[in-house]
Amino acid sequence: MGLSTFDQVNKVFDEAADRLQFAGGIREMLKRPWRELQVQIPVRMDNGEIKVFTGYRVQHNGARGPYKGGVRYHPDADLEEVRALSSLMTWKTALAGIPYGGAKGSVQVDPRQLSEDELNRLTRRYTQSIEHIIAPNRDIPAPDLGTNAQTMAWMMDAYGQLQGHSPAIVTGKPVELGGSLGREAATGRGVFYILLEAASDHGLSPDDITVVIQGFGNVGSWAAKIIHEAGMKVIAISSVDGGTYNQAGINVIELEKYYRESGMVSGFSEGDDISNQELLELKCDVLIPAAIDNVITGGNAPAIKAKLVLEAANHPITPEADTILQDRGVAVLPDILVNSGGVIVSYFEWTQNVQEFRWEEQRVNTELHRIITNAYREVHQRTVSEKITPRSAAFEIGMQRVARVVELRGFV
Ligand code: NAD
Repeated sequence: MGLSTFDQVNKVFDEAADRLQFAGGIREMLKRPWRELQVQIPVRMDNGEIKVFTGYRVQHNGARGPYKGGVRYHPDADLEEVRALSSLMTWKTALAGIPYGGAKGSVQVDPRQLSEDELNRLTRRYTQSIEHIIAPNRDIPAPDLGTNAQTMAWMMDAYGQLQGHSPAIVTGKPVELGGSLGREAATGRGVFYILLEAASDHGLSPDDITVVIQGFGNVGSWAAKIIHEAGMKVIAISSVDGGTYNQAGINVIELEKYYRESGMVSGFSEGDDISNQELLELKCDVLIPAAIDNVITGGNAPAIKAKLVLEAANHPITPEADTILQDRGVAVLPDILVNSGGVIVSYFEWTQNVQEFRWEEQRVNTELHRIITNAYREVHQRTVSEKITPRSAAFEIGMQRVARVVELRGFV
């Protein structure tokens, strides 16, 4: 059996820990999750039957602030994956310099198979089951793959039934319930800001850049819209059922209308249908995987033709593929940098909730731009000065910050 996703993340961690000369105890502390909770979620289905789902919440590291991380609904969700994603959150929040630790949650379920009422009941039951380890100053969930603002509204309500009105318990809520302006678009907007910086550092001119995006959910669709509106050419986009391709550039606004009606990207009249596999291997300047984990592997990495890959999804590239891309001169910017716009604006949302004050959207976007661009610059500088990959540089910066706080707290 190959390495689990957590082992793969720890491989990057260990290499960075070697370079940073982390001693055994601190290395162990920073590598392993602090707390892991597995819960049973019985749900009465609409037909009266009871189905039992499995849920997780993993709190990886809380040295720099409350645990923070999304909740994923996916049929393949398992503990090893949640561990990996929680670890990535620790390095992501540290790299962005926002006062959070790292966590992640998931429920093993295909949300597309459940009705709205069933999803509501499942979400409430999951929230009740993890309620004793989350709180606005302890652990703050957010949306991820398969969950959205509605899921967060249900979580907030279920938590509030036990603890009183607590908008700061989750981020990524609907704006009417204390969500932040700009949060829904934030991850995709952050991807766009990173694209602008990286394009200029890699000698790509925004005027004739071609972009391919896998995934048309929250991250992929916002990234596609913002990149399209900035005048760049998005030549292919996909969702789980397949994609659409148009070398002249896709009209993303029209595609979104079609997607809202049909629930699909393939079949769009202004493009040719394309499979997810073909999409990843298209000739383009920038490839943005924005769907699920492990889509670029040792099998297809030799066929990737992009010059630059921006990891908008979490862990879309296996370590084997990472090495192949590096050897082939394909630049890869890591997830903990590229998709950090979501958690950065989640931090703004939480801040607004705690202060009971609302920011204008312009302020949200300006502050997001400042923080994510700084993080990009720091990663770029270390990549160049240490002659390491951007992924190694990003991990090192995050890991040093967490280690410093652990030392200051006097844990060791
Ligand atoms: P989403 O559920 O809104 O959208 C996921 C998209 O991926 C959909 O278009 C879906 O059709 C597609 N997809 C699912 N399975 C696929 C498959 N096997 N092949 C191709 N496409 C597939 O999820 P999201 O919130 O956009 O998250 C996408 C990725 O970004 C995840 O890795 C998530 O962890 C990461 N991420 C999300 C946020 C956020 O704010 N939502 C923040 C940081 C990172």
